[in-house]
Amino acid sequence: MTGVFRDLPGQDAVVAQLRRAAAGAAALLAGRRPEPGAMTHAWLFTGPPGSGRSVAARAFAAALLCGDADGDGGGCGECASCRQVLAGTHADLLLVRPEGLSYGVKQTRDLVLRAAGKPTGGRWHIVLFEDADRCTEQAANALLKAIEEPAPRTVWLLCAPSAEDLVPTIRSRCRVVTLVVPSSDAVAQVLTDRDGIEPARALAAARAAQGHIGRARRLATDASAAKRRADVLRVPAAVTSLGPALSAAATLVRTAEEEAKAVTEDLDEPEREALRRAFGEGSSGKGVAKAMRGMAGAMKDLEDRQKSRATRVKRDTLDQALLELALFYRDILMFQLGAEVELASPESDLRKLASSSTPEATLRRLQAIMHCRELLTLNVAPLLAVEEMALSLSEG
Ligand SMILES: [Zn+2]
Repeated sequence: MTGVFRDLPGQDAVVAQLRRAAAGAAALLAGRRPEPGAMTHAWLFTGPPGSGRSVAARAFAAALLCGDADGDGGGCGECASCRQVLAGTHADLLLVRPEGLSYGVKQTRDLVLRAAGKPTGGRWHIVLFEDADRCTEQAANALLKAIEEPAPRTVWLLCAPSAEDLVPTIRSRCRVVTLVVPSSDAVAQVLTDRDGIEPARALAAARAAQGHIGRARRLATDASAAKRRADVLRVPAAVTSLGPALSAAATLVRTAEEEAKAVTEDLDEPEREALRRAFGEGSSGKGVAKAMRGMAGAMKDLEDRQKSRATRVKRDTLDQALLELALFYRDILMFQLGAEVELASPESDLRKLASSSTPEATLRRLQAIMHCRELLTLNVAPLLAVEEMALSLSEG
């Protein structure tokens, strides 16, 4: 596959649907009659994490804005417009991510206003909402209004794990695009073709990531990500009694915090820097004192948002580690039951633990992990929740 859709392994049906829509959109712009039902103004991209929801939405946006639209429905991947969309810098593409744990109503209203403007490139104004399921209720209402009464050249692309994650009123106004979990072979192929990763290593990473392309790529290319996974997977063998269980819990939480810190620090400082520049820090003259007071307020707002984002990233990262752990025990269970499924971990890592416990004990351990995830969504202190889980794991 070529062009902007090439990073969607195993999603042939979705790619065909989006190409058809992009061709329909191009026909509309050219004043020709589009294929009936091909294009619409609101889309909902669903699929499990990592299946490529936002990649598909971004590729579709590129296809709609592509400057070389006379190809196969747009999305050449080479023209300036495609490159800007893929880099997230295109003037007609509004990329929206929740700043904290959710989208607030103010953020959404601002967005709706901006989206109603005319596209500068004369094609479409596209709003890409990642994690649209994180809208608060009022934000969802503001969004609903915009989708109900669409501006003629605005296209809404919402992403969510499943259609049920959005309120029915919004869902019913969107065309749903359903991504599937790609096979490990398909993911490995992309890693080999696009990233030049050696096939055996690509396949191991693809299996470990269970169809999550971004994660597979990180595991294959980022040594620290691979090390963190290895740390998580050392937990099952380590939790032999009380002491080791508690220290494993502490390690798990610390590892997740370190990873989250690395992610947010990279974002925080450039944002603060941009704000300082916007307020002209260092300049002098009339009105500077007033501007500086304004900056202090804006800086406080920014820091509150950054704090809220840090909390979300920390939570997501720990959850990711717990899912990794759950997957390991699922593998052990499959191994114990002799089930014919593709395992995420190599058999050699599973054999000893599988033979030293029973399927019932493995199931109990899986439940302990899921219980821990639940506690974390209820805002129980992470270390407490993880310690409780580690103790359950050690008891078998
Ligand atoms: Zn293009």
